[in-house]
Amino acid sequence: MREYATQMEAARKGIITEELRNVAKKELMTPQELLPFVASGKVVICANKNHKCLDPQGVGSMLKTKINVNLGVSRDCKDYDTEMKKVMEAVHMGAHAIMDLSSHGDTIPFRCKLIAECPAMIGTVPVYDSIIHYQRDLSDLSARDFIDVVRLHAENGVDFVTLHCGITRKTIEQIKLHKRKMNIVSRGGSLVFAWMCMTGEENPFYEYYDEILDICREYDVTISLGDACRPGCLADASDVCQIEELVRLGELTKRAWEKDVQVMVEGPGHMPMDQIAANMKLQQTICNGAPFYVLGPLVTDIAPGYDHITSAIGGAIAASAGAAFLCYVTPAEHLALPNLDDVKQGIIASKIAAHAADIAKGVRDARKIDDKMADARRVLDWEAQWECAIDPETAKAIRADRKPEHEDTCSMCGKFCAVRSMNKALAGEHIDIL
Ligand code: SF4
Repeated sequence: MREYATQMEAARKGIITEELRNVAKKELMTPQELLPFVASGKVVICANKNHKCLDPQGVGSMLKTKINVNLGVSRDCKDYDTEMKKVMEAVHMGAHAIMDLSSHGDTIPFRCKLIAECPAMIGTVPVYDSIIHYQRDLSDLSARDFIDVVRLHAENGVDFVTLHCGITRKTIEQIKLHKRKMNIVSRGGSLVFAWMCMTGEENPFYEYYDEILDICREYDVTISLGDACRPGCLADASDVCQIEELVRLGELTKRAWEKDVQVMVEGPGHMPMDQIAANMKLQQTICNGAPFYVLGPLVTDIAPGYDHITSAIGGAIAASAGAAFLCYVTPAEHLALPNLDDVKQGIIASKIAAHAADIAKGVRDARKIDDKMADARRVLDWEAQWECAIDPETAKAIRADRKPEHEDTCSMCGKFCAVRSMNKALAGEHIDIL
C-alpha cells in the first residue's frame, strides 16, 4: 500500500519513490537534489499508478528538455496497426511521451494497448474522446459525460491529460470582442468553446475542477492545462485572450498543488521569435514555475510542409528560455495526418531543438556529446561520428550516396579538406592537393 497518492505528495513527505530515483539517475542528479523540485511543482513525474511498463521521465526547466509525439487515428486515416507502428518507432527514436489524439473508432482497446506496451509517458485529450466514446454529438453531451471520460482515462492508466480548464464563458465575449485573425485553433479548446456556446453552460472542466483534481489525485494523473487560446498565427500572439487564459491557468495550478496534483501548463502556438523568451518568463512568473509544455512555437505562418523547421526554431528558443517540454510538429502540420516519414522528421527536428536548448541552458553534461563529435570530426573518424549523430542512418546514407575519392575526406572538398590539410600541416607532413 503506497503511503502517498501522487509523486508530488511523496516528495512533500520526503519519500523517495522508485520513479523519482529513476528520473534523478537519468538527469545525473541525486534523489535529494531532485526531491524539492517535485515537491514544489517545478518538476513533474507523469506516472499513473496503472501504467505498469512506464519508464518514468521528469519534466522541468532545469532537466533535459523532453519531447512529445502526437499520434492516433482520425476518420480519414483509421488504421490502428499503422498508428501502433508509428508509436514504437517514435519511442525507438527517443520520444519521451506519446499523446493519443485518436478521434475515430473504438478508442479504448488502442489506448489500453498503448498503456500496456509503451514505456513512454502517455497523454490524452479526454474532450476528443468524449464524442467518440458516447457516439453522441457535442451538444448532446453533458458536463457529467466529460468528467466520466476523464475518470475512464485515469483508470486506464493515462499519465497526463490535457484539459482546457482555463476558458470560461467570459472567453466567449473576449473572442468576439477582440476579433483574432485565427480565433481558437486548439482542437480541444474549440470543442469546449462550441459546447459552451451551444448549451449556454459554463466550461465543465472549469466548473468541476475540484472533482477532476480528486480523480487525478487518486490515480496520479498529471494535468496538462490546455491553452485553448494559444495563438494560431503571429498576429494573435501575446494578445489579451492568450494572456487572460494564462492568468487563469496560474490560479488553477495553485489549486491543483493544494491537492498535491501535478501540473504542466501548455503554451503557444504561433509566435514571432522576439516574443518567445518574454512569454516563457511570463508563464514562469504567473504559474509559479510549473513546467511549460509548448506546442511549437512556430515562428512564421508561411511554411506549410516545413513546419517541423519553423517549430524547431521556436522550440529551441522557448526551451532555452525555460520551456520544459516540446510537442513535436511534423512537415504535415496544417496539411494532413502525418505518415511515418513525417513522424520521423518531426521527432528529429524536436530532438535537435531540445538538445540545442539544453546546451544553452547548461543542462548537466548536455554538451559532452558535441565535444565528442568535434573530436571525431577532427580526426576524420566517421564511425565515431555516426555514434554521436542524432540521426546516424540519414548521415550514413548521404555519405554513402556521394562517396569521396579519398576515404579520409568527404566529397564536399575532397583533397581540399580543411581538416586533412590542418592535420597534415600540424604534423609537419607534405600536403598533396592535385
Ligand atoms: S572534405 Fe570538407 S566538408 Fe568534408 S570533412 Fe573535409 S573539410 Fe569537412
